[in-house]
Amino acid sequence: MYYIGVDLGGTSIKVGLITDKGDIINKVSGPTEVEKGAEGIINSITYLVKKVIEEVNIPIELIKAVGVGIPGVSNNHGLVYFASNLFWKNIPLGELLEEKLKLRVFIDNDATVAAVAEFFKGVTRGTNNSIFLTIGTGLGGGLIINKKVYSGSHGIGTEMGHIVIGENFYDCSCGKNGCWETYVSATAMIKYCGKLLKEGNESILNSLINGDTSSLNAKLIFDCAAKGDEVASLAVDRMKKYLAIGLGNLINIFDPEIIAIGGGVSGAGSFLLRNLKDEVGKYIYVKGMNVTEIALAKLGNDAGIIGSGMYAKMKLEE
Ligand SMILES: [Zn+2]
Repeated sequence: MYYIGVDLGGTSIKVGLITDKGDIINKVSGPTEVEKGAEGIINSITYLVKKVIEEVNIPIELIKAVGVGIPGVSNNHGLVYFASNLFWKNIPLGELLEEKLKLRVFIDNDATVAAVAEFFKGVTRGTNNSIFLTIGTGLGGGLIINKKVYSGSHGIGTEMGHIVIGENFYDCSCGKNGCWETYVSATAMIKYCGKLLKEGNESILNSLINGDTSSLNAKLIFDCAAKGDEVASLAVDRMKKYLAIGLGNLINIFDPEIIAIGGGVSGAGSFLLRNLKDEVGKYIYVKGMNVTEIALAKLGNDAGIIGSGMYAKMKLEE
């Protein structure tokens, strides 16, 4: 039996035909034409799903379900409450796709399906309880509890980036102040660096960006921190401090075996993980129980399609 995984992103739609072990048989992709609205995007998904099946001549009866990872928030009936990159609000994606495809469709947040991908094929494989965090422009996360994906009571699941952990100098895109992602994300580092530069602090960043703080990016900040630049180092250290606080909080709630960190910022690799576990230890309630492994996520580009396909399998078996 097979599953279809759909990775719906702000710029591209990737669709994979997946075995029940999470191996990719075939994959296709196309652009996300946001300007065509929900209907246009849903038509593209439908076209790509049919194409990925037809290209390898697999009878549709062998497809058990379709999973879709979305850049937004949905409920367990496949209603997408919002997906800001797509300019979607209250789109009944699950219902519309089921009508067109005549297949069961399961939808969740892209970070949650990536957690599922890591569980089947990546670094959290073989564990019972794990947390996946993706640090990029924002901060997202997914949970596996007792080998099952946790979507919450209403399917809204886990919005870890929006737990409030302090009072910050700028507001979150969600409207609140102090969200974890305003401390831990590429955006957070850029904003903090920009603040320090505007306050007149000396930094090699000044000449690299010609005084234009809008051209700061996370990689540049990590590179300058590695060279010992003070402003860049302060921004990285601040992010790592709050990463440790948040991870400590999650460990205190969930006691997971492992936390996997993925997303663009995790490209900083060993630099990000250096001393992180010791720092996290400061925030763990049960002293001496700093046993949760913290590792970089393993899967790159295919995490979305593997994860959404396997998400559909998990949901079908619930
Ligand atoms: Zn927020």
